[in-house]
Amino acid sequence: MSDIYDLVKRYPWLPSLKIYYSDIASKNPLDFINEIFTSDKSEDLKRRVLTIFNDAFNNIEQLTEYELDEINIYVYLILKIILYILNNKIISNRIANIYSKTTYNELNKENEYNLYFIYQDLDLEVRYEEQPITYKKLVVKEQQEIFKTNFKISYLDYLKLSSHLKDEYRKLVNNAVLQGYVYIKPENINRLLQEYVRIKFLTQNNEISTELDKFKEKLFEIQEFKILFDALTAIWESKKEVFEYTIDITFKEGKDISETFPPCVKEILSKAEEGQNLIHTERLFILWFLNSLEYPEDKIINVFSTLPDFDREKTSYQVKYAMKKGYTPYSCKSLKSYNLCLAKEYNDELCLEGYFSRLQDVQKYISHPLKYIEIKQYRDSKKLKKAKNQALDKE
Ligand code: SF4
Repeated sequence: MSDIYDLVKRYPWLPSLKIYYSDIASKNPLDFINEIFTSDKSEDLKRRVLTIFNDAFNNIEQLTEYELDEINIYVYLILKIILYILNNKIISNRIANIYSKTTYNELNKENEYNLYFIYQDLDLEVRYEEQPITYKKLVVKEQQEIFKTNFKISYLDYLKLSSHLKDEYRKLVNNAVLQGYVYIKPENINRLLQEYVRIKFLTQNNEISTELDKFKEKLFEIQEFKILFDALTAIWESKKEVFEYTIDITFKEGKDISETFPPCVKEILSKAEEGQNLIHTERLFILWFLNSLEYPEDKIINVFSTLPDFDREKTSYQVKYAMKKGYTPYSCKSLKSYNLCLAKEYNDELCLEGYFSRLQDVQKYISHPLKYIEIKQYRDSKKLKKAKNQALDKE
């Protein structure tokens, strides 16, 4: 069993940081940065922070370096300060995703004693049963799978931790609950902690810009910090262009049809672009939707590459499978029932008012996102034809 000092070095987001490293945690950020960047740890710290940024921008799924020493604590705190002053959603999501995913993998390597301690430190009401409890039996094609665990978590803590993960299978009703506890495997608690850590990096910066500017000015007086900050912004500037188009929605002969996408699709793509989590239904829908448009496999995988739990192998398998099966994306009716229709929020005229069908001589409503694209493209081609005719008339 590791001692608490080691665990805090491994997981600096643990509340115990404040107790066991109170000298660091209680410092004013300016004093902290000044002290650390004028110490002999400065070079190592700069190198590690730069590596994390490079990893995050290079679409790597796991940090290439995650050392479990005291500098790891500084790295975590400095990252939070840098993201705070950068105040850039895309960067924050990228860093949050790669860092939290690494955390998840590290947690899964821990033994049960350490995990139990970590859960206690987070003040989670987690209980450990000496004898593993069977909490689920699954029978598929006469094969029986038995799920056992030694861990259970109070349903209130479970709800608190899973509130940002809206997948169906995480809902309380779809889990084994008995006498106020959810029976759960530690890797599933760790997945909830991954989200907890991810959100820690996404704290909104609501500070009035003059206050923020003053804070930055003071920070930039610390020369070594300024050098690091400039290096990070240089990386961002060089990647920005590629990066903002990670989700390349150009398809077929270089023709960009993203403008013809309906709100329900635009919303999911923009969430993915920012690196936000997508629920299972959103993932399936976007996968089937892009597949219906004959999007190339690598481009579909790329859409998912920014998600917090992205796993290239799994995604590639799922994309291939969907392509083979040729599933049809959800209709508007289904999307509405899943609360994924965003016609009102986007105030989209075509979705809200429908279109006139000359063939049937009636006003019709959009029934399917693919129909939306068809109509948009038809209207665009009409506009183009009209513009061409007008140009010819002028000649
Ligand atoms: S009406 Fe249909 S196409 Fe339009 S946003 Fe809603 S679900 Fe999407």
